Amino acid sequence: MKILLTGGLGYIGSHTAVELIQNGYEVVIVDNLSNSKIEVLNKIELITGILPKFYQKDVCDQHALQEIFEENKDIEAIIHFAGFKAVGESCLEPLKYYKNNIGSTLSLLNVMEKYNCKNFIYSSSATVYAVSEIMPLYEDSPLGASNPYGRTKLFNEEILKDYQTAHPDFNVIILRYFNPIGAHESGLIGEDPNGIPNNLMPYICKVAVGEFDHLKIFGNDYNTKDGTGVRDYIHVVDLAIGHAKALEKLTDGDVGLKIYNLGTGVGYSVLDIVNTFNKVNGNLVKYEFVSRRPGDIAICYASPKKAENELGFKATRNLEDMCKSSYEYQKNNH
Ligand code: NAD
Ligand code: UDP
Repeated sequence: MKILLTGGLGYIGSHTAVELIQNGYEVVIVDNLSNSKIEVLNKIELITGILPKFYQKDVCDQHALQEIFEENKDIEAIIHFAGFKAVGESCLEPLKYYKNNIGSTLSLLNVMEKYNCKNFIYSSSATVYAVSEIMPLYEDSPLGASNPYGRTKLFNEEILKDYQTAHPDFNVIILRYFNPIGAHESGLIGEDPNGIPNNLMPYICKVAVGEFDHLKIFGNDYNTKDGTGVRDYIHVVDLAIGHAKALEKLTDGDVGLKIYNLGTGVGYSVLDIVNTFNKVNGNLVKYEFVSRRPGDIAICYASPKKAENELGFKATRNLEDMCKSSYEYQKNNH
């Protein structure tokens, strides 16, 4: 079965490509390399023994997508990872985010319709949930994004709902990721952000290899067990397996539109992460407490039950695995 992965050389896309190839799928990748490197393609081949067909194209470009479909008329499903994801940048350049994140979805849907491709998986995010003190978050918890990036995710979900309503034979699975961290056990692929990382684990890794002196922990006065923010961290390989499970369900047919959280259901604090990282990798990460980061919330974790019940998906990798593999990848790519 042939599957098109948009953004397939990025962090989550590359791990999913590996997982799908290892499950016998034929993977085709389109990526414009705006936030990834071409070397990732060879790394996928090194891990799986198979070099996926690759197109360096912009997913917003409908003509380019048509060419891909002309050459691959038997694409059965699309997993749409491509998009920009930096919250801070989205506040400074909202149009760039609306253009890329929404434009790419519209182009894909138009071309899929033309080529009669009816299966779609969308990379959404926990950021679509309204700020709430009530945890865990269920798929039907109130929605309401608080920044332009989050709104592109929310608007894409709405677009997909409208489209599916108009085309009942179109199958969509929306996956809301919580906080993916970790890397493939080979140490060959992982998260490699450009510039100064915004997210916790990439920053910790750069402190561990000496690129930064210490981690700044944003706030120790939250109403949590140790005062630092709590999140639902999920190993990226588990996340990739979640996509394989979703794909199985999707191509069984008659899905309509389904939404699933992909998380573990367990919340860890920033100090839990730093302490576990230091425990498994050696005492490499110093930190200081600084003031809260604007827009941050105290606690966020998923209910993973719906994915467990309906997709048969349950994350199995623990925090130690996440911290070890993140550092392993960072050392190899330093
Ligand atoms: P990433 O930046 O590593 O990967 C995205 C890939 O898409 C990159 O390789 C980039 O070059 C490519 N891309 C971007 N715009 C493109 C376009 N117009 N045409 C072709 N390629 C394009 O990001 P990621 O962490 O792998 O995230 C994948 C998806 O998951 C994104 O949609 C993101 O919003 C979503 N998501 C990520 C997280 C997270 O914490 N990483 C959490 C929730 C949701
Ligand atoms: N965080 C931190 N220092 C950093 C980056 C993040 O203390 O340099 C904290 C942040 O305040 C939050 C947690 O780590 O409590 C996870 O942040 P991240 O940006 O990785 O994910 P998100 O906030 O999007 O859930």
